[in-house]
Amino acid sequence: MSRVLIVGAGLTGSVCACLLRREMTNRVNIVVWDKSRGAGGRMSTSRSPSDASCTVDLGAQYITATPHYAQIHHSFYEELLASGVLKPLVSLAEGELMKVGDHKNYTAPLGVSSIVKHFLKQSEAEVLFDRHVTHICQKGIRWEACPKGGQPEQFDAVVLTMPVPQILQLQGDVGSLLEGSLRQQLEAVSYSSRYALGLFYQAGAHIHVPWAAKYIADNPCIRFIAIDNKKRNLEPSECGPSIVVHTSVPFGMKHLEEDKDQVGPIILEELNKLLPGLPEPHSIKCQKWRYSQVTSAVAGCPGQMTLLSRPLLVCGGDGFTHSNLDGCIESALKVCAVLKSSL
Ligand SMILES: Cc1cc2nc3c(=O)[nH]c(=O)nc-3n(C[C@H](O)[C@H](O)[C@H](O)COP(=O)(O)OP(=O)(O)OC[C@H]3O[C@@H](n4cnc5c(N)ncnc54)[C@H](O)[C@@H]3O)c2cc1C
Repeated sequence: MSRVLIVGAGLTGSVCACLLRREMTNRVNIVVWDKSRGAGGRMSTSRSPSDASCTVDLGAQYITATPHYAQIHHSFYEELLASGVLKPLVSLAEGELMKVGDHKNYTAPLGVSSIVKHFLKQSEAEVLFDRHVTHICQKGIRWEACPKGGQPEQFDAVVLTMPVPQILQLQGDVGSLLEGSLRQQLEAVSYSSRYALGLFYQAGAHIHVPWAAKYIADNPCIRFIAIDNKKRNLEPSECGPSIVVHTSVPFGMKHLEEDKDQVGPIILEELNKLLPGLPEPHSIKCQKWRYSQVTSAVAGCPGQMTLLSRPLLVCGGDGFTHSNLDGCIESALKVCAVLKSSL
């Protein structure tokens, strides 16, 4: 039985774990470590501190499938629709960007993190949070992964699914494997940066706007607003309303090194100018997305990069494809193909 560590409980890591379980049953012991306190990564859904039924998607908002991906990832979409994790999008978005025509749009009624949780559950992996991997060191035919403040553990193979700049920050033997062109390829990967603000309201509060989501073209601070419960087509009686705001990328870049507690009020002030008369939220969460969406992926979008074959150390994630559900599935499929041929 091979012991495989997947670093990252985001979408790529969770699909990887699920595929490994299905395709290598009884041959792998799958362990997932994430530095956060919960699953989702950039598909994160945050709960109101005072009302667990009031949630907001702070990262990814909608799942959009092009005809090409709807066809080649048909089984994944079927599975998510059959289990109720995805539902066809019925709420309306105002402004450009929402893909229409032959594209299929979906929403996750329980929040986007439910997509990640679905695959993690299917994987039956041992999933541990608050495990921030700092070092990966080769120990003979195995890898030793060291979590911050915790005990190192050994694995037969390690999969890294975090954003590429965070792979480059790993200490131990990863640096020496990244000589020459591999390092250059990884250093060329870039991401946009933005902030997200989640606002949670008391049950019964009303947000009087005629849309579920809106793209804003001409505001230097705010790029996107969604009435999150409306976007997910939830009845107001099912939860208190919530709003998510995404800033523009220029705003995100300008304030990148500032404290999010200082940036949150700036975004809130701008929101109140755009939507005057909003009720007072009972709590607010500000999230800095230093690595939001990939603007330049690894050349050729290979889906994975093998840093060493024996013991296997392989990287995946949207940095090796593109930033959406299909990009992550594509990467997870490529990573799993490498694992299957190696273990
Ligand atoms: C604001 C925003 C809006 C978006 N909108 C959409 C959208 O509408 N539709 C869409 O399809 N996609 C959207 N995306 C993109 C989508 O969210 C990402 O492509 C996808 O979630 C990436 O998944 P991943 O698993 O590759 O990486 P991540 O989700 O980043 O997962 C990596 C995980 O690794 C963990 N990690 C990092 N370093 C370490 C470490 N050293 N040790 C342990 N754990 C570590 C992180 O905590 C994280 O959970 C959006 C993203 C953002 C940020």
